[in-house]
Amino acid sequence: MLDLRGDPIELTAALVDIPSESRHERRIADEAEAALRSQAPAFEIIRNGNAVLARTILGRPTRVLLAGHLDTVPVAGNLPSRRDGDVLHGCGTSDMKSGDAVFLHLAATVAAPAHDLTLVLYDCEEIESAANGLGRIERDLPDWLSADMAILGEPTCGFIEAGCQGTLRVVIHATGIRAHSARSWLGDNAIHKLGAVLDRLAAYRPRSVEIDGCAYREGLSAVRIDGGIAGNVIPDAASLTVNFRFAPDRSPDSALRHVHEVFDGLDVRIEQTDMAAGALPGLSKPAAKALVEAAAGQVRAKYGWTDVARFAARGIPAVNYGPGDPNLAHTREERVSAEQITATTATLRSYLSS
Ligand SMILES: [Zn+2]
Repeated sequence: MLDLRGDPIELTAALVDIPSESRHERRIADEAEAALRSQAPAFEIIRNGNAVLARTILGRPTRVLLAGHLDTVPVAGNLPSRRDGDVLHGCGTSDMKSGDAVFLHLAATVAAPAHDLTLVLYDCEEIESAANGLGRIERDLPDWLSADMAILGEPTCGFIEAGCQGTLRVVIHATGIRAHSARSWLGDNAIHKLGAVLDRLAAYRPRSVEIDGCAYREGLSAVRIDGGIAGNVIPDAASLTVNFRFAPDRSPDSALRHVHEVFDGLDVRIEQTDMAAGALPGLSKPAAKALVEAAAGQVRAKYGWTDVARFAARGIPAVNYGPGDPNLAHTREERVSAEQITATTATLRSYLSS
């Protein structure tokens, strides 16, 4: 049986030693559920597929939700775990069984929590988003996700990473007239028309926006170019795919309007292909402010899109906060320092007890 009350570093090793590649989380979920039932008696506990949900109902004025995924990417010859001084090596040590261990340990050991607590340990985060266990819980058990603050234990090197950027992709189509390149004046070259689009991109100065103490740097980038028919043909079609990573103070609609403005007046057609809203950090709300204080202001913006956005879309301030280096996630060399596990545990313990 997992020992939730012992050392969270050893609990991390025990979780790492239960292989749990995505879609194979049944055993780790069984073990987490059994340990919570015997060692966290104050919690109401339910099972949803290979997810385990637990919550207190103490009537506190605020509720804090702790969420972690139980799955890992495929093992890369890096199991079982190996302890080498201060460092624990193995698949899932940083992404994110150390975060899961901290949450499980706190659920079993915070004697008088200042907030009601919800713990969500879910499956299938590392694969296509249609399979994501948190998405399934959102559909099947939405009331289990209501909270005043959500903390995802993804690796952040012990920084609070708040909010996330939005992303928008557009394809910019240029059209012309096809002709023999020996009589190019009879044609109208679509590839040449993209030159003006590239000039606008080269001259573009992206914003950096500060929200709740986090700097979000935007980016507008060409990510793909298509065009051309043959070595002796003036092409009548060409296109450029552009990705806009935008700060969460823009809505998806205003991001799209902005992209139209950037290319205003050019002889092109803009087609939107992909869009995901960003998430505001929400750190000015009281439950979030207290966490920032507990972490001594170690706050930075989150780049990229994460499950944090699911909570932000429900109006719940949400952050990533966990031990481990995100750059080591999914690598053969994945590891976590014991010191970061201890520090994260101490910060969250003071936040949850304050
Ligand atoms: Zn992860």
